[in-house]
Amino acid sequence: MAKKDYYNILGVKKDAKADEIKKAYRRLARKHHPDVNPNDKVSEDKFKEVQEAYDVLSDDKKRKVFDRFGYYAENLDPDSPFGTSGAGGGAGPAGGFDFSGFDFSSSQSSGSSFRDIFSDLFGGSGGGASRSAQPEPPRPLPKKGRDIEIPLALSFEEAFTGLTTNITVNRSEQCSRCQGAGDTGGPVVQCPTCKGSGQVMKSGGRLQFSQPCGDCEGTGRRRQPCSLCNGKGVTPKSEQVKIKIPAGVDTGSRVRVPKKGHGGRLGAEPGDLFILTNVGKHPFLTRKGDNVYVTVPITVPEASLGTKIEVPTVEGKAQLKVPPGTESGQKFRLRERGFPSLRNPSLRGDQFIEVKIALPRVLSEETKELLRQFEKLNPENPRKVMGLE
Ligand SMILES: [Zn+2]
Ligand SMILES: [Zn+2]
Repeated sequence: MAKKDYYNILGVKKDAKADEIKKAYRRLARKHHPDVNPNDKVSEDKFKEVQEAYDVLSDDKKRKVFDRFGYYAENLDPDSPFGTSGAGGGAGPAGGFDFSGFDFSSSQSSGSSFRDIFSDLFGGSGGGASRSAQPEPPRPLPKKGRDIEIPLALSFEEAFTGLTTNITVNRSEQCSRCQGAGDTGGPVVQCPTCKGSGQVMKSGGRLQFSQPCGDCEGTGRRRQPCSLCNGKGVTPKSEQVKIKIPAGVDTGSRVRVPKKGHGGRLGAEPGDLFILTNVGKHPFLTRKGDNVYVTVPITVPEASLGTKIEVPTVEGKAQLKVPPGTESGQKFRLRERGFPSLRNPSLRGDQFIEVKIALPRVLSEETKELLRQFEKLNPENPRKVMGLE
């Protein structure tokens, strides 16, 4: 993979604005357009190169990758996958060869192109003969890393307060030797993954089927795999990752930790890490959304006379005023004593308290006598509305 300076190709500065890049591109594209230069291979190559440079620099994302790594995979343009790698295969992206000294805009009069300059410099060293007989194996494309999902068990209280902790993540990172290319520009060999067949067997359930080999794009040929990553472009890495679980998560919440998934290739971004939370139960409290529910027993005298009782909440005890004449099953609400909202942490759910009147366990004769007196004093028949005695 040859390192190209797309800024130089377009003849613009590194900090050029989008419209400057567009202007330069238009000028050069007109100049080298195949319609203007019929049957002129040099112009055609130059035209492709200008297109390629513009393709990267006019796209903010691609330009960022280029600015950061100093290169961009040449076969990004699917229409000309091999059109630009040419004799440059010998120089890996980490080769460090700097082409910024070449002024392409002034070398055009001599009919020279980037590729010709490159051939002059490295002519013969890349074993061009065999390569002209067979097309280049395809270059891998920059590829975003895969996401990783990790389950995490939390207590009811931890889901309420949120949690910051370190977890071990078995992820991968872009290979430091080949920058994710999977090779360092060595000779073309039979693909070791598929043994040159271009197909690999996959099993899905009980079925076995073959699919194109991802390591050689199904061609069966590739450059000698990188010795550090065995051609995978990424190397395994066990990493301690600090994660911050926000207050208010519930079972099934997905907490995203950006860029801590598997490593990308050729400068592409790593995937993300997702923490899947599983929240444990509380002995008394239950949760629905951001609201919390609890059932609390009260005695007959408490229900009749009214009182103040303690009730459990996710933050500990709270006071609840039970008014005189409270019925069994009556519900009370403590506003904003539930869980914080994940969407808006300044909002909180409520806590609902259902009171259940617990029957007194009457054992002593004295208590029984008291109840008989109570009945005499309060001769009520609650079934009267049903027409029953
Ligand atoms: Zn590697
Ligand atoms: Zn293969």
